[in-house]
Amino acid sequence: MDKIWMHHPRLSDSYQEGVNFFLDFAFKNARIKNYGYTKWVLHGETSSHATQNVDTPSDTHESNYTIDMQGVIYDAIGHSIGDDECEIENDNLQGEGDEPNTKAKEFYNLIKDAEKELYPGCTSFTKLSFVIQLFHIKCICGWLDKSFGKVLDLFKKALPKGETLPNSFYEAKKLINALGLDLEKIDACLKDCMLYRKEHANDTECEVCSTPRSEAKVLRHFPLIPRLQRLFMSSKTSDFMTWHYKQDRTSDGCMRHPSDSPAWMTFDHNHKDFAADPRNVKLGLASDGMNPFKTLSVSHSTWPVILIPYNLPPWMCMKQPNFIMSLLIPGPDAPGNNIDVYLKPLIEELKELWEVVVETFDESSKKNFNMRASLLWTISDFPAYANLSG
Ligand SMILES: [Zn+2]
Repeated sequence: MDKIWMHHPRLSDSYQEGVNFFLDFAFKNARIKNYGYTKWVLHGETSSHATQNVDTPSDTHESNYTIDMQGVIYDAIGHSIGDDECEIENDNLQGEGDEPNTKAKEFYNLIKDAEKELYPGCTSFTKLSFVIQLFHIKCICGWLDKSFGKVLDLFKKALPKGETLPNSFYEAKKLINALGLDLEKIDACLKDCMLYRKEHANDTECEVCSTPRSEAKVLRHFPLIPRLQRLFMSSKTSDFMTWHYKQDRTSDGCMRHPSDSPAWMTFDHNHKDFAADPRNVKLGLASDGMNPFKTLSVSHSTWPVILIPYNLPPWMCMKQPNFIMSLLIPGPDAPGNNIDVYLKPLIEELKELWEVVVETFDESSKKNFNMRASLLWTISDFPAYANLSG
């Protein structure tokens, strides 16, 4: 197919003709079974990339999700760390670039270790990719920690000598936590009055309604700061974190990204010190109730709180792998106006990211910088909007 029109100005006749020709072609061929966005076989695209980031039929969902999971992890890690370290060392020899800060260094060292082959001569798995996929099976099938350890034991016996698998579930979990995928579990009053944090860590009952702590629900909190730092430490994403500021993107008055909006521009005008560094992160927050048990319990309402990093270009910031899960507010009942109780850990992080700078290693410039972040707006339906505002 002639694709030269893609490089013409978007308002030109040749571009519009190209789009129309393409749409005619696509709809004509859409009648062919299995020809859709996922398989551009008539377009010469057969790579696995074409099957990522799309809804897949339920019978293949699980295997695609497994592949995607690995993709997500590799997005987080970026690339072969060995090459990267050489670059950093060369930069330093030339007197340019910073040493990664201690946390970044720890992370890179860990990844270097995790990128070892699964056993001598193994080309299909690294230690890390194997552990992550096994851990993923554990999660979707609900294995106990103990059974995960036993399967690890079995693999250690079955694999050739010199295998690099972790020795226990604890070691495997440490590896995964170090990727920044760890979470904090916080007890919450059954009636959503309070969290048992800090000065309430040893309380045995709710100070508002006296419900015993033994009946507490568990809030899952996924620390935000390391996740934002990870976006800068990965070569896959760090360069894109200033996309909204880049001069070479289309500017024709149409809104293609939140950064084209009056709200964004007003924010930048009012907070010039924040806007001065385009790496500072601008976030959106979305939340709504969902039932994780499908039909098993109709009334159950769990509330995930999701952050969207708007620094990324439109084709990345609205993709699931780049969403940041901040909180998982437990059911069975929706938190209602008490959602503010659960938002506290996130609000504290956002305050820290606004008032205090967080030293972060930027892979694209090989320099440490002081990262800040701000929350621009929330995305919800009207009932949830009322709760979030309350
Ligand atoms: Zn209470």
